[in-house]
Amino acid sequence: MSVTVRVPAKVNVQLAVGGARPDGFHDLANVFLAVGLYDEVTVTPADSLRVTCEGPDASRVPLDRTNLAARAVEKLAARYGRRADVHLHITKDIPVAGGMAGGSADGAGALLACDALWGTGASRETLLGICAELGSDVPFSLVGGAALGTGRGEKLRVLEVGGTFHWVFAVADGGLPTPAVYGEFDRLKEAVTVPEPVASAAVLSALAAGDVPALAGALSNDLQAAALSLRPSLASTLAVGTGAGALASIVSGSGPTTAFLVRDAESAAKVADALAASGTCRAARVAAGPVQGAVVV
Ligand code: ATP
Repeated sequence: MSVTVRVPAKVNVQLAVGGARPDGFHDLANVFLAVGLYDEVTVTPADSLRVTCEGPDASRVPLDRTNLAARAVEKLAARYGRRADVHLHITKDIPVAGGMAGGSADGAGALLACDALWGTGASRETLLGICAELGSDVPFSLVGGAALGTGRGEKLRVLEVGGTFHWVFAVADGGLPTPAVYGEFDRLKEAVTVPEPVASAAVLSALAAGDVPALAGALSNDLQAAALSLRPSLASTLAVGTGAGALASIVSGSGPTTAFLVRDAESAAKVADALAASGTCRAARVAAGPVQGAVVV
């Protein structure tokens, strides 16, 4: 018997970052939108915990206990006083280290899959609590849709969305470690007072109305300057997407994936073709959101 859970990637339609706190973390106002690029996590009873992974980026996914999905299984097992005796298989389609919360998706997926396999009957609150311990993007991967994350990003308020938003994602060669991007953010902001991060009223109302041009005008990412500073070539990728008709171009989360908001599916295909032909990225992917969070399939 095995259980498979499908979990989406996310794009940040707003990522507001506060100054470094004494503990080194940053307060965030993070507006997440789940988009239709998915990892699948399958758990099967086994003698002991074992992780395998398939997909184009599989070689970059750790198969030891640092894998977020393995950590999720161990946390749930510890909570319910049982052994983490499963084979965990990840079918990876979300770009690795791409600022699209792929590891977080696998963590949330593994948690839900083991909850179903073991019949633990954990409450939603318990599962969300374990997600928050695993990382600040993990609770959103469980919930999906659209949400405002505050604190380190882990306190979630579900947001209403009045329509579908079409996106193209340009996958860059290699990753950009999230801690390095925050380090560069701190360096760039050393001499300035960083304001408290607050959710943008324009972003929230554009989402609620399903208003694509309004969301295009309101997208913002406080990590973009830091990501561009570490990877200046991303500017050319952003320019290609805008030149091909994207309504807005933005670095996705901590990058190096770049995200392009487009009018409709037809425009998405055109922008994806232009990006793929430009040689400024490794691959271009099309996806729409919002989509639901982790779900047993
Ligand atoms: P975020 O958007 O949440 O900042 P990301 O999309 O930039 O994350 P991930 O794909 O989650 O980045 O991976 C970041 C690093 O985490 C990887 O380089 C890898 O070493 C490690 N990692 C741990 N577990 C996983 C997993 N299940 N899948 C991918 N990477 C994982």
